[in-house]
Amino acid sequence: MAIYNPKSLVAEEFINNGEILETLEYAEANKNNRELIDQILEKARPRKTADGWNCAGLTHREASVLLACEDPDVLERIYAIAEEIKLAFYGNRIVIFAPLYLSNYCVNGCVYCPYHVTNKEIPRKKLTQEEVKAEVIALQDMGHKRLAIEFGEDPVHNPIEYVLDCIKTIYSVNHKNGAIRRVNVNIAATTVENYAKLKDAGIGTYILFQETYHKESYERLHPTGPKHDYAYHTEAMDRAMQGGIDDVGLGVLFGLEMYKYEFAGLIMHAEHLEAVHGVGPHTISVPRVKRASDIDPTAFDNSISDEMFAKITACIRLAVPYTGIIISTRESEETRSKLLRLGVSQVSGGSRTSVGGYTEEERPHDTEQFDVSDQRTLDEVVKWLMENNHIPSFCTACYREGRTGDRFMSLCKTGQIANCCHPNALMTLTEYLVDYASEDTKKLGFEVIDRELQNVPNEKARGIAMDNVEAIKNSNRRDFRF
Ligand code: SAM
Repeated sequence: MAIYNPKSLVAEEFINNGEILETLEYAEANKNNRELIDQILEKARPRKTADGWNCAGLTHREASVLLACEDPDVLERIYAIAEEIKLAFYGNRIVIFAPLYLSNYCVNGCVYCPYHVTNKEIPRKKLTQEEVKAEVIALQDMGHKRLAIEFGEDPVHNPIEYVLDCIKTIYSVNHKNGAIRRVNVNIAATTVENYAKLKDAGIGTYILFQETYHKESYERLHPTGPKHDYAYHTEAMDRAMQGGIDDVGLGVLFGLEMYKYEFAGLIMHAEHLEAVHGVGPHTISVPRVKRASDIDPTAFDNSISDEMFAKITACIRLAVPYTGIIISTRESEETRSKLLRLGVSQVSGGSRTSVGGYTEEERPHDTEQFDVSDQRTLDEVVKWLMENNHIPSFCTACYREGRTGDRFMSLCKTGQIANCCHPNALMTLTEYLVDYASEDTKKLGFEVIDRELQNVPNEKARGIAMDNVEAIKNSNRRDFRF
């Protein structure tokens, strides 16, 4: 039987079933232990230090106790601390991105995914480089600067060379003032050699959702194809880091397995990356299973309510304060609104989940990966964020300046984010407003920017930000490295 060891590189040792089951028992036994819960909540709170903010985070056991606790007062305190952490480390900025689906050819049999190999309903499509270019132009015309590219797993149709060609094409397109400055990549688990190639291609985050940490369920839900191999999939982030990729993005597909099990596994995965590589995950995504071609989400009996979904997100915020949390357009405006206050730091906007969807006049449904709940345009999402006191950010400066992995974490930990990320967010928002926004969004945006510039604490940084915002407004672009 495998023994728990967070430093091991063997999946069943760092995501250890025995340790998860003991954690769940411990959480259940202590869910009404007010003394312990008070201590955990106290530990989770961010503290102001001489050079910024510090936050201890929580172990998987501590965080699981909070998740198990059903006391409404405790829940309110969890939410309040999640919001405190969000504001301390990320301020009111929300990073914006869009997914770009490049090929839905897939050889796997994932039972929850419409790309599964036995789905004969979905038309299979793979973009040519000319089509990739057209999609990127459409995305740039919306104002996007950051993409997450998506592929099914198919060594014949989507080999690594195809993925690399697409990345090259995406970075090469400069339409009007547009540019894609960060390409995050969501491809199936692969080799160290291929991860090194992605690193050389200049990718941002390598994203791979675990789907479920429960090995038996994992094997049942992925009955055929290379993705069936639990260990190969679970150990992918270690190979990615061995291949030189600094930023990795974790995720669970909520609804497949019991959420308490998934939550403990997810936090253990983050602890493992920190223990082995000295840096935790850059992001955590929290997707829920959605209706799609040949997929009925009610077939999965572990669906979670909106309330539980919010609680899970807030508990993740407390456990891993330095990790960005991503919520996609799988969720409605209402759910996204609630989660934004509880620690989410990145959202997608104006998304189309079909291959080639951005160049179509109407949202195409035939090759959609899942139903999009939030169908608003990017302009509407940007305006809505500002109306709710968030600052939409199109910034990719950290990545472009090499502040990835532990270098990003140290920026976050020393609180320099307020003098660095906040001005960058305002400058990139100015770019967006000048180049792409509707008149209403522009009007609100410039008011917000004028107000927010005053919140840059360091006088010098504030002065530079003001100058730069003015320069962009006057269409005087300098070679900013956002
Ligand atoms: N092929 C890659 C892989 O296997 O990891 C990644 C691409 S897949 C397009 C991206 C993610 O979509 C999957 O990891 C899964 O979590 C999610 N997904 C699949 N089917 C879904 C559904 N019905 N509803 C919501 N999300 C889904």
